[in-house]
Amino acid sequence: MQTKRWNMQKEQPNHQAIQEAAELLKNGETVAFPTETVYGLGANAADSRAVSKIFKAKGRPEDNPLIAHVATKEQLSKLVSILPDIAKTLLDTFTPGPLTVVLPSNGVCASNVTAGLSTIGVRIPEHPVAQELLKTCELPIAAPSANISGKPSPTTADHVWADLQGKIAGLVDGGPTGVGVESTVVDCSQDIPVVLRPGGITKEQLEEAVGTVMVDPALANTSDNPKSPGMKYTHYAPEVPMWLVAGMPKNIQVIIDRERDSQKRIGVMASTETADQLQADRIIPLGSDLREIASRLYDALRIFKNGDVDLILCETFPQTDIGLAVMNRLEKAATAYVDH
Ligand code: AMP
Ligand code: MG
Repeated sequence: MQTKRWNMQKEQPNHQAIQEAAELLKNGETVAFPTETVYGLGANAADSRAVSKIFKAKGRPEDNPLIAHVATKEQLSKLVSILPDIAKTLLDTFTPGPLTVVLPSNGVCASNVTAGLSTIGVRIPEHPVAQELLKTCELPIAAPSANISGKPSPTTADHVWADLQGKIAGLVDGGPTGVGVESTVVDCSQDIPVVLRPGGITKEQLEEAVGTVMVDPALANTSDNPKSPGMKYTHYAPEVPMWLVAGMPKNIQVIIDRERDSQKRIGVMASTETADQLQADRIIPLGSDLREIASRLYDALRIFKNGDVDLILCETFPQTDIGLAVMNRLEKAATAYVDH
């Protein structure tokens, strides 16, 4: 399959190109597009054959449900059987934006979108290109991250191209995404909201809006069965093994030196401040605060290639604010956790 690619600026969606992309979606094809979190791979959520093309292109396990994307709250309310007050408040406060609410489905979306669950994850993205595409096609669009399953999520159109060129009908290039980690998934189908996946909206922000918010215990304890089915799969993996390293820069340097002594070429990912104090074969500074680190994370994971380095060492970060999402992704991407 030839993948059609359109280029545009985030703030100036190209109407003609968006029309063409929307036509493909209406015809049951897959189109990747930018959102404020990562690039999504979209298809008509009401058409099970279109949705199955997403699973095929990504190699995604079929028991991992997809998030349905819409342009407005009015459209969102047409996909769920109830919209509790807490969900309304969360939507009013944080959307359009990087928040997905899980609610009882009314069956409008195809059953392979929800992987047979009675609930559906729904989100209203803020990105102007995503908004315009959703408004133009007037469909709910199922859209997981536009990467091959298991690899880091795409934060640029080139990441999508590298993974899915020839496997999808279209790619709307709207430049790099902003937040860099996926949406926060919050289950609002019970009385107390539960964070199933940490993301762009932090637990602190959610609590300020609606009071008590729980975090799925499975996020802290990998032996529990996570309530968000996708959380149990290998995810975000770079090409070479990655160790998470706790401790001060001095401590990290000791481990770098030890591994280099055994002929390994070492790549490092760390905050800019820590990176400045280290010596290794390749060092990627991620930025000086947690928001910047989140936005660069997936690109950095994709930079390290086989044959270039043998092992990546990555600093650990505080699990506050968006750091909770950053550490959640790093723990899934890493092969080991070392402190000496
Ligand atoms: P992705 O689209 O690749 O960012 O992944 C979507 C995430 O949302 C996965 O972790 C899914 O398991 C989760 N998700 C989607 N729908 C539901 C649902 N109905 N219940 C629980 N988790 C969901
Ligand atoms: Mg994904």
